[in-house]
Amino acid sequence: MAIKTPQQYLASLNDGRVVYFDGKRVPDVTKHPVCKITNDWVAMDYIMNNDPKYQDLLTDLDSEGERVSFALQPQRSRDDLLRLREVVKLWARVCFGKPSGAKFVAKDGLNAVTVVAPRVDKKYGTDYAANVEAYRRHLQKNDLSFAMGLTDVKGDRSLRPSQQVQHKDFYVRIVEERPDGIIVSGAKTHISQAPACNEVLIAPCRAMQEDDAAYAVAFGVPLNTPGITMICAQPEIHEGATLFDHPISAAVYINDATIVFDNVFIPNERIFLKGEWEFAGEVAYMFANFHRLSAETYKAMELELFTGAATLMAEYNGIEKKAHVREKLTWLVMYTEAVETLGRAAVEQCVGEEGSDLVYPNPMIANICKFYFADNWHTATKYIQDIGGGIIVTAPSYNDYMNPETHDFMEKYFGGSARTSTENRLRMVKLVRDLTSCYEDVLTIHAEGSLEAQKLSILQLADFGRYKAAAMRAAGIADSNRNALFAELPKFPPDL
Ligand SMILES: Cc1cc2nc3c(=O)[nH]c(=O)nc-3n(C[C@H](O)[C@H](O)[C@H](O)COP(=O)(O)OP(=O)(O)OC[C@H]3O[C@@H](n4cnc5c(N)ncnc54)[C@H](O)[C@@H]3O)c2cc1C
Repeated sequence: MAIKTPQQYLASLNDGRVVYFDGKRVPDVTKHPVCKITNDWVAMDYIMNNDPKYQDLLTDLDSEGERVSFALQPQRSRDDLLRLREVVKLWARVCFGKPSGAKFVAKDGLNAVTVVAPRVDKKYGTDYAANVEAYRRHLQKNDLSFAMGLTDVKGDRSLRPSQQVQHKDFYVRIVEERPDGIIVSGAKTHISQAPACNEVLIAPCRAMQEDDAAYAVAFGVPLNTPGITMICAQPEIHEGATLFDHPISAAVYINDATIVFDNVFIPNERIFLKGEWEFAGEVAYMFANFHRLSAETYKAMELELFTGAATLMAEYNGIEKKAHVREKLTWLVMYTEAVETLGRAAVEQCVGEEGSDLVYPNPMIANICKFYFADNWHTATKYIQDIGGGIIVTAPSYNDYMNPETHDFMEKYFGGSARTSTENRLRMVKLVRDLTSCYEDVLTIHAEGSLEAQKLSILQLADFGRYKAAAMRAAGIADSNRNALFAELPKFPPDL
């Protein structure tokens, strides 16, 4: 089959999956008014893959000459990673800063198990790399949408999986091993667009120790498998919400669902890690490397939109030449361009996996970029909300604007600069409201890993030897370890 049509993709979701939304079982996600928002957004992947204008970028021909999604190919060079960035940029620009989710998160998980599975096979003689490759072919040949289930519900964050007190299922675990596969239980949470995906790829979210071996498990599974229940995230919008009032959130409901596994059978050929606890952290970190790249690529596109909204909001309010506004706009431009530049640098300076032809983004730069944009997000939000004014949260709704009894009042009193219409100003106000929602704030801080996770990686990767050698040389302290870079430098100040 290779590339699916959007219609085939949508039809594939009516497969008996168990989904709950706002307290009720959803009999068919393709018919549900709010789940439909997610499905249509994910369908953009299929719309664009079928569009000849984008096929050269978004698709490749496989060894049998069949067209497959480029996002499902392994990353073997810097150019592959650069192309992946262009793919994510296109997805993000099309969908108002939110890349369509058919493969967006889980491609990074697939890349992670592709890199780590051979390491496990080398140590234990397992066959996981072959399983990963077979899974990749299965995804490609059937053009499946898949979600990434990394984050467990975790329980007490200070305890490892096997140390949890109330029960042992806070992290997904193997509860039974059989000759033909394993039975798993537990729950993953915040799993973006899962109810709109065919499959989910499950992997551990943290490093583990020997007594956590049952939790060191990675696998791929269809989301209509018996024993799987999905509970949808509470959306920002309600049924019937308009694009005028919610230009982004009525077009993109990411639906970061909770997935419960209640004794779910996973066949041997879909298992990519089973008890090799030393590799749990490696899968999690490798996913993070790839996913930070995805995050910073789409975030730069979202910031493009964000900075554009701040500029227009200033113009529509007639304050674009005021000193404090120019200062804020300058900061927003620097923020936007720095995220783009750092994200690109992580790819330009990518790392090759030893003993293979696979590459991954530079972990140090990728972590710095993710931390930088997440840590500064609330400043950006403060600036755009300041420029916009209180109307961002107090403007009446589209229905009031359309009601003949209130329309003229709104038209008259909600105007700003005479250089634009009242409608344009109201539209921009609503966009800023969506861009600065609590959902956006939390997404930016936590999705793709929380701030501390990046700091931890940065600290672990830091080249303190180089930093210290620079300082010791300047202070005139003899360096017994003689850092090679500084040992070779000419004497300074010179003896002239
Ligand atoms: C919108 C959105 C979409 C997402 N999409 C996905 C997805 O598709 N797939 C997926 O797998 N995940 C997804 N995530 C999950 C995301 O990766 C996590 O939210 C993130 O890793 C933080 O984990 P948490 O939410 O459990 O927060 P917590 O880990 O509970 O963090 C809360 C606070 O506790 C601190 N903390 C936690 N543990 C410790 C510790 N041991 N020591 C010290 N401090 C600690 C953290 O640093 C933080 O300050 C998504 C999240 C969001 C918000």
